[in-house]
Amino acid sequence: MNCRNAHVTRPAIHFVGCVALLLLYWPSLCPAARPDRKPNFIVIFCDDLGYGDLGCFGHPTIRTPNLDRMAAEGQKWTNFYVGASVCTPSRAALLTGRLPNRSGMMSAERRVLFPNSKGGLPASETTIAELLKTVGYATAAVGKWHLGHLPQFLPTAHGFDTYWGIPYSNDMDGQKGFPNYQKTGRKDAHYVAPIAQYDVPILHDTEVIERPANQHTLTQRYTDKAIAFIKENRDRPFFVYLAHNLPHIPLYAGERHVGKSRRGIFGDVIEEIDAGVGQILDTLRDLDLAEDTLVVFTSDNGPWLPFHTHGGSGGLLRHGKGTTFEGGMREPTIFWWPGQVKPGVQMEMGATMDLLPTFCALSGAVAPTDRILDGYNLAPLLQGKTRTSPRDRVFYWREEKLYAVRVGPWKAHFITEGCYGDGPDRQEHDTPELYHLEHDPSEKYNIAAHHPEVIEKLRQIAETHRQSIKPVEIQLIK
Ligand code: MG
Repeated sequence: MNCRNAHVTRPAIHFVGCVALLLLYWPSLCPAARPDRKPNFIVIFCDDLGYGDLGCFGHPTIRTPNLDRMAAEGQKWTNFYVGASVCTPSRAALLTGRLPNRSGMMSAERRVLFPNSKGGLPASETTIAELLKTVGYATAAVGKWHLGHLPQFLPTAHGFDTYWGIPYSNDMDGQKGFPNYQKTGRKDAHYVAPIAQYDVPILHDTEVIERPANQHTLTQRYTDKAIAFIKENRDRPFFVYLAHNLPHIPLYAGERHVGKSRRGIFGDVIEEIDAGVGQILDTLRDLDLAEDTLVVFTSDNGPWLPFHTHGGSGGLLRHGKGTTFEGGMREPTIFWWPGQVKPGVQMEMGATMDLLPTFCALSGAVAPTDRILDGYNLAPLLQGKTRTSPRDRVFYWREEKLYAVRVGPWKAHFITEGCYGDGPDRQEHDTPELYHLEHDPSEKYNIAAHHPEVIEKLRQIAETHRQSIKPVEIQLIK
């Protein structure tokens, strides 16, 4: 080969080499879900986490590097709601895609289920897990259930192949001889209780395997259980519902996290949950499942404010758990699915009730058509195929009353009421209070007097909606 030919040939070889390398690495350069498999779903659901309690949602002293990364790689939702402002009805809403007063899981008599409750999520309801089972998914519930502790109501009766966790809140089954700050109302209490104070069991499927639960180690054990299930089912589609029972008080953190956060024990708890999220996402990456898995992170209701520094923060949102103000029902939410969920901040509206129709659309499962669903398919919005959410409204129920409605940026309060001894007192409004949530997310400036036409429209929407709620057997009874 003479010098002239070599001069011509080397770039050609270089070009061919580059094309070959590009073809070799193309799948990893442009990640995409494998068309031959259905996506996996993981829902990580906290308890009483406030809108302002994550680093990526503005908390100045709680470190959440894994959730921050998840939000940067995925979609951070700033207008994402739950179906109720306390544990039991909120969980029913997520798993059924329906407002909890359609299933009897919301009541004025008792706001949540207790260890002496006889009721639970009725068998006539259809859960996300049951729907995904119809299209071949492996399903696991890990963590706090709180939809009925009797065998006929447990996760294994509602479409989950397996369950590991506590059946109700971590402050139930209280034992005598310990100060109960909830009852005495000591708001400055350092609410970190001895393990023996709450005789809460851990169930594996339907059997009690530990009692009282060692609550210091629960967060890590939940994470480990979720990861083990993911590994076991790596070759088939799976759904993991991971419902942490924290940061609901009393607060417990594992050894590695105690005393580490600048925010104190509450921060330790959040930082341990964040570390668990990191372990789960790392597992998905290691197993080459990241591009096949939609992960959703959110919480069941807002912060439990009477516990002061041991409760969380709604950030700039008003009030917290138990109320129909934004702090009670708008949650810090992240959707993550590399190559599928378009990264960014999502300011459109969504709700936990939308997960059921969204998962159905993505998996090919058929959502029930014989009942009213309150959810919408968010998949096109998540994937950047549209910029507008199918959800333009939120209904804020508290027990048997519709307290407020949001349509677009407008929110009308027909009834306002604080909770847990923290005002305002209950007040029914002849003229609803009206807030523009995009201009005034803190619900500070009532502008009802300037917008009678908006109030009229919201009144009509609320009335039509009320008509759609039919009486059912109430499950939240003794
Ligand atoms: Mg809760």
